[in-house]
Amino acid sequence: MSGTPADRDEEAAYRARVRALIAERAPRLPRRAGFRSPDSQEEDEALRRWRAALYETGLLGADWPPEWGGRGEAANPWSELFLAEELARADLPPFTDQTHLAAFAVLMFGSAEQKRAHLPAIREGREVWCQLFSEPNAGSDLASLRTRARRDGEEYVIDGQKVWSSNAEWSDFGFLLARTGPPESRHAGISAFVLPMRAPGVQLRPIREITGSTDFSEVFLDDVRVSAGSLLGAEGDGWRVAMESLGAERSGIGAGAARLRDLLEDLANLGVEQAERGALPIGPEALRQDVGGLAVRVEICNLLVQARLQRESRGEHRPQDIPIGKLAFSELNLELAEYGLALQGARGLLAAGDEDVAQGGRWQDEFLFARTFTVAGGASELMRDLLAERTLGMPRDRGR
Ligand SMILES: Cc1cc2nc3c(=O)[nH]c(=O)nc-3n(C[C@H](O)[C@H](O)[C@H](O)COP(=O)(O)OP(=O)(O)OC[C@H]3O[C@@H](n4cnc5c(N)ncnc54)[C@H](O)[C@@H]3O)c2cc1C
Repeated sequence: MSGTPADRDEEAAYRARVRALIAERAPRLPRRAGFRSPDSQEEDEALRRWRAALYETGLLGADWPPEWGGRGEAANPWSELFLAEELARADLPPFTDQTHLAAFAVLMFGSAEQKRAHLPAIREGREVWCQLFSEPNAGSDLASLRTRARRDGEEYVIDGQKVWSSNAEWSDFGFLLARTGPPESRHAGISAFVLPMRAPGVQLRPIREITGSTDFSEVFLDDVRVSAGSLLGAEGDGWRVAMESLGAERSGIGAGAARLRDLLEDLANLGVEQAERGALPIGPEALRQDVGGLAVRVEICNLLVQARLQRESRGEHRPQDIPIGKLAFSELNLELAEYGLALQGARGLLAAGDEDVAQGGRWQDEFLFARTFTVAGGASELMRDLLAERTLGMPRDRGR
């Protein structure tokens, strides 16, 4: 599937396959903004079964080597996008998540033993992973991370703290970055590890967020012993392992542009609903102008993703594509959420669950969650810096 207009039949057949599987096997989940962690054991189990179904039918992981259950097909960014669009339409989470990142890292950098231990388990939904990169003083400046891994015979002993670890509560393993070099070694002294989340010395403190849900945790590591075979890639090569994974995460967020169309549709319906109640805080003409303007930007955002995929299909990679896509999506997503709340006037102050709240409270949830996209996977300011420095050749930020 190349995604050009000539392949519309192929695209339609692929989408029909995805929709049929969704109808047959997808869990029914409550609608929530953004990428969220399960709310309960049942939800976690349902999502594991659903992930396994996506792998089993080749909708995920078709590009894995046959020996690891894939079909050895070339990675196809178009089918990844169509899958993301169909999942978004059905209010299902995307699977370009932390487990996806970890699978990518194990496939690319793992030892034969790590591949045997983890790849089948990921495909069968038996293993869920979290990403243990960020620390209280190492987020945007990840290379300053301080969690230490000290070699002790055939083991490493790990001490430190991670934070904002999405889905850690429900994870079996962590894709961990820790410092094996001296404190000042920056990128060169970082190594990647496979961390069993139930190893002695691993302690979680879930973080309750402004949305009311608990999507991530603080993770405390106190004298945690892992075997030397837990090293993912070579010692000191963790930065490369991490950067390639983060590249995948950013492209996943870009594909999130798909959900903007659904958001826009709901926004237009909200405008009509408010007008019918006589509760529009602006005139109908201003509403038409605003929604029309947002519609143009939603289409631009989707076209940016498509243009990037078309270039990538030809083997062309432009460094500006990922920051532009991420900025366009995350900033517009935030604006849509803010507008959705503003359109409700005083009703916007109601909470999800209140009797009279519009559209089941989705705009309250979208509003509270939307800002995270402008931070996760690289803050907007950093994306703009990347564009200014690496694409336009402007002088480096002297603050760094
Ligand atoms: C929803 C969500 C899920 C996440 N999931 C995970 C996860 O699973 N695993 C994980 O390891 N991490 C995760 N993170 C953490 C994420 O990677 C960090 O939040 C991100 O890297 C920013 O780091 P920070 O929060 O420490 O903010 P900081 O680095 O302190 O930045 C705060 C703000 O300061 C400004 N700033 C910082 N540096 C610069 C600069 N050089 N130039 C200009 N402005 C700057 C920006 O405005 C930035 O938004 C998640 C975050 C979110 C929001």
